[in-house]
Amino acid sequence: MSYVTRFAPSPTGPLHLGHAFSALTAFNRARAQGGTMLLRIEDIDRDRCKPHWETLIFEDLRWLGLAWPEKVMRQSDRLPAYRAALDRLIAMELCYPCRCTRGDIRAALSAPQEGAPVQGPDGLVYPGTCRSRRMSEADATDAIRLDIAAAMDRLPRDPHFTETGPQNPGTHELTRDNAINGIGDIVLARRDIGTSYHLSVVADDSAQGITEVVRGADLFEATYIHILLQDLLALPRPAYHHHDLVRDETGKRLAKRDDARAIRHYRATGHTPQDVRRLAGL
Ligand code: GLU
Repeated sequence: MSYVTRFAPSPTGPLHLGHAFSALTAFNRARAQGGTMLLRIEDIDRDRCKPHWETLIFEDLRWLGLAWPEKVMRQSDRLPAYRAALDRLIAMELCYPCRCTRGDIRAALSAPQEGAPVQGPDGLVYPGTCRSRRMSEADATDAIRLDIAAAMDRLPRDPHFTETGPQNPGTHELTRDNAINGIGDIVLARRDIGTSYHLSVVADDSAQGITEVVRGADLFEATYIHILLQDLLALPRPAYHHHDLVRDETGKRLAKRDDARAIRHYRATGHTPQDVRRLAGL
């Protein structure tokens, strides 16, 4: 099987040194194995994603010397595929509609009988307020959640994945206990966009034939959600390579609003692609 990876930016701002590091790491790993790096534009969040940021992504990546097959996947073109994946999980009776706002969730978690709220890879572990609601009662104002205990019980064995990155190389397993207490009932479909980052990324990695996901260490914990969804949907499992994050001099990870480290800033101030590779730590 030939090596296929992807770089999957969201067009919500200018790419910075951290994105350069991520894209170059993916590209170099693909090149070293005679494989391919695909590009995917993660633009499901219509309010935050803008066409001019997408144009800048292409310009920045080309300037860095990266190349990719012409056909770029765009998540906004893939809503029917995400709906099909969601329908499959609904047909498996693993989903329920949820009308809780963030405020409702915080209020439920502050009740005296609840322990300290747990922050999982999909936000606060959901207290289960809407779990007894049926899909037949769902309306357009509801989000759709996965009943994670039911989902884990449906699998013949606990999901696991192989990490090839520098920090935690080896096999990692999602146990029922960690799924319930550390992740909880994740949102599969937000009420505004009808899908979620997790569901979309899992559908796309499979559709693009990704053999190794290369991305930042900040997404390591989210991988447990992705392998669970892959097993429920009977999708193939890529390997995962979570690279270290590029940080500023105070140790903070870079943000899109930090324009001083934007690739476009380095381009405009006479730096070379080689300078940017060095600044990103390559
Ligand atoms: N779109 C995500 C981001 O910009 C990356 C998601 C992924 O690589 O799985 O951070």
